[in-house]
Amino acid sequence: MEQKSSRILLMSYGVICYMLMAFTWWAILLYTKNQDAFQAKAELMRMGMAAEQTYVNEETFVQNADYQLLALKYKHQESMIFGEALFFFFTLLIGIWLIHRSYTKEILAAQQRRNFLLSITHELKSPIASVRLLLETFLKRNLEKNHSDQLTKTALKETDRLTYLVDNLLLAAKLETAYLPVFEVVNIQELIENIIFTQKEKHPNAEIYFTNCDAVIWANLDKLGFSSVLINLLENAIKYSPNAPKIELKTSLIANELHLQVADCGIGISDKEKRKIFQKFYRVGNEDTRKTKGTGLGLFIVSQIVKAHDGTIQIADNQPTGTIFKLTFSQN
Ligand code: ADP
Repeated sequence: MEQKSSRILLMSYGVICYMLMAFTWWAILLYTKNQDAFQAKAELMRMGMAAEQTYVNEETFVQNADYQLLALKYKHQESMIFGEALFFFFTLLIGIWLIHRSYTKEILAAQQRRNFLLSITHELKSPIASVRLLLETFLKRNLEKNHSDQLTKTALKETDRLTYLVDNLLLAAKLETAYLPVFEVVNIQELIENIIFTQKEKHPNAEIYFTNCDAVIWANLDKLGFSSVLINLLENAIKYSPNAPKIELKTSLIANELHLQVADCGIGISDKEKRKIFQKFYRVGNEDTRKTKGTGLGLFIVSQIVKAHDGTIQIADNQPTGTIFKLTFSQN
């Protein structure tokens, strides 16, 4: 597929180059022919005047009204040739730029689809395989209570992972077709604390601190949507903090907008990537070499839900390392 489209791209560039060269050649030819025609007409005029014995010298000839008219016509045609050539040249340049842009877009989209398929296959298969293995262990061996509890906890973790993944897949599909936020007055203090509690259970090594700056308790939100935003941001903050994750979460109410800030001390996001990470399936790096699990749907979901709340998202660098996601949710 990639090879085929790069062949088409090369062919299009070839055709454009040929057109460019052919047109340059025609433009030069037209210019010289126009010049020749002008000189021939001037010569004819000169000879006519000589025959009528009105030709005095070159100085008076070039001031002659007929010659002036001829020269004006020539100049006019010359600028027409230049103008047309320039216009054609820029049109071709724009054409090349458009082809190149859609080609790179297509390549990127194909790469993202491939990444998504690779990651989703792995993400779906690995928890299923792991739960299967655990069940087989239960079946084959008579385990002590301690050991069986530990295995059950692992199985539950795997099913949680699967649930999170399937929820994200379904939500991403819904966001593109039939998502309508259901606004209700939500106790966000309680909601955020519950989400943090679940995340801490899931990731015991993560430290999550929550500051409710203006003691905001109630907010007008789509509860499921907001929960999904927060869960995705926290999951990412933990996932992309390779050493003991430390996360600071803040909420405040400014000018009738709920502000939510999630700051981590992880690997950070380069300025070049900051603009791209909200695209569907987009993941930084390459699926063949990447170590973290994911589908590239998390931030797409975040951006779509924030958009549905008439909100905004900003990303800043944390100091000394890490990322700060700053979100607003309109309360109107
Ligand atoms: P996923 O995490 O499944 O790859 P996301 O849409 O959630 O997909 O994120 C897109 C990309 O943005 C990730 O692949 C990751 O490279 C980058 N990213 C997201 N959140 C963070 C973060 N807190 N720190 C560093 N990188 C991040």
